[in-house]
Amino acid sequence: MLALFDLDGTLADRHAGQLAWAVEFAADHGLDPAEVDWLMAADGNGMVSKEEYFGLVRERYGLAASFDELWVQYRDRQPTLVPAYDGMLDGLKQLRAAGWRIGVVTNGYEDVQTLTLTSSGIAEHVDGWAISAAENIRKPDVGLFEIAAARAGSALGGGWMVGDSQADIVGGRAAGLRTAWVHHGREWPAGVGGPDHVVAAAADAVRLILR
Ligand SMILES: [Mg+2]
Repeated sequence: MLALFDLDGTLADRHAGQLAWAVEFAADHGLDPAEVDWLMAADGNGMVSKEEYFGLVRERYGLAASFDELWVQYRDRQPTLVPAYDGMLDGLKQLRAAGWRIGVVTNGYEDVQTLTLTSSGIAEHVDGWAISAAENIRKPDVGLFEIAAARAGSALGGGWMVGDSQADIVGGRAAGLRTAWVHHGREWPAGVGGPDHVVAAAADAVRLILR
């Protein structure tokens, strides 16, 4: 019995962490607090590459620090500000108590995702994880799900995938998993094979899995 979860926007509240980082960055650089809005918008929910993001940040604020310096500071700090969603650690605890093996399957940088997992406390409540940059393979490729399953010590058969992106659901379906999509107020796009369940939060998916 395997339950796989995405990390950002599913187990971990990346938005809250990014906001905390932006507030701190603005204060550290003596920026107008209103710049937090710009720092958040330019991040594109993490979908903008950090090369592009910090290029824009350096240009806008005329920073002397190099991209490499800003990037090192960011990846040492931002992941430590990303919390698990309310009730999520308890949910993982309940799943494990019921005999489920738990894996995390995430697209992202190896050091950033690993530090997010450990500092949020999520790492100690799961059995293994697969990070795209470490494996050179990205969701929705089924290969990343297979690696996560193996690390969690379980086969994919009869398992679940919970995530907030299309890649989570498309990949989860392709891997033969039951799927739950965290909607964050969005509609599932027409014409794309949809999830088995639509939930407001991953903690709601835990209740479905345990049902
Ligand atoms: Mg996500």
